[in-house]
Amino acid sequence: MKVLVYSSYSFIIPYLEKANQGKHELFFERRALSLKTVEKAQGFDAISIFSSDDASEKVLKELAGLGIRYIALRSTGFDCIAIETAKKLKMQVVNVPEYSPNAIAEHALALLLALNRKLIISNDRIRNNNFSIEGLAGFDLFGKTIGIVGTGKIGSVMARICKGIGCKLLGYDLVEDPILQQETGIVYTSLTKLCEQADVITLHTPLNSQTHHLINEAMVKKMKPGVILINTARGAVVDTKAILKGLTAGKIGALGMDVYEFEKTCFFQDCTQKNIEDPLLKALISLPNVLITSHHAFLTKEALTNIAKDTIEAFDYWEKGENAPHELYKIPKTKIINPIKQMP
Ligand code: NAD
Repeated sequence: MKVLVYSSYSFIIPYLEKANQGKHELFFERRALSLKTVEKAQGFDAISIFSSDDASEKVLKELAGLGIRYIALRSTGFDCIAIETAKKLKMQVVNVPEYSPNAIAEHALALLLALNRKLIISNDRIRNNNFSIEGLAGFDLFGKTIGIVGTGKIGSVMARICKGIGCKLLGYDLVEDPILQQETGIVYTSLTKLCEQADVITLHTPLNSQTHHLINEAMVKKMKPGVILINTARGAVVDTKAILKGLTAGKIGALGMDVYEFEKTCFFQDCTQKNIEDPLLKALISLPNVLITSHHAFLTKEALTNIAKDTIEAFDYWEKGENAPHELYKIPKTKIINPIKQMP
């Protein structure tokens, strides 16, 4: 297959090339998919995109017009693609549902430990020869209550890690996991009760219409004073303005975020020569009790190996005219000349 790989950052290219072994013709486009870059897909059989790409309705219709029928997402979350439109256009779409839940859970833990024990502040002081430990007190995680919102693949790894530390676990999910309950003693409850009782809240749901702003002003009001909030899921699972208000009011003790509601304007980019225009992000960056990473919880060697393997595997199946294992929906196998003409 002839494949255009959008958002082909240097960290993923060697992994894709290794997994591909020359089977497919891979072309690397550094820029993200958008209305501006969509025409680059002309002449390709398939594209591969990442969570930072824009596969909204308009872009998908353009892609369909160019004859693109196959899209391989290199991410678990698929909120960057208008999935119902893709389905109507009879495009085959895969994600990578489980490349390494450990990578994300371990990053969430890293954010939590660094914030609680004030590692960044301490290190900044030492770089200035300031060895004072005034104001660096944290708390023992042992015996504290961790609220896990979304106990799927990543949330359940986080639960097991926190159980290992000796934490009590509260869970909130649409579906309870009896094995996780048995193994970790996690107690499922409502989101309100979880917010009222947890010392740390860590978010692991997908972003969809139900989870958009799941953590909002009302939930912040319910939280324990001094709570640590960790978000490695998707930025818009929280109402960022409400979180900032909670931080400045001293209600939220600390925030660790690997994802940001409006991250598309700057995440994954080197903005050292530009001004950050976004006042919300500027305000968050300025707070000493906020730790931000630029959406790289997934960035481990193991995760990259698995992302590349699953991505190339999808092209292998599609080339044979078969369904790939991780298609987000199945479409009937009919010959489609120009799917855009079939749109209502
Ligand atoms: P998963 O599908 O295994 O788990 C998600 C859980 O959330 C499920 O148990 C589901 O029942 C629950 N859920 C869904 N809607 C809910 C709702 N309205 N209320 C409560 N619970 C709800 O997915 P996963 O592999 O654990 O990944 C979770 C999310 O993490 C992904 O969708 C993605 O957005 C994000 N993620 C981020 C990174 C990163 O680099 N920061 C990497 C991978 C995944």
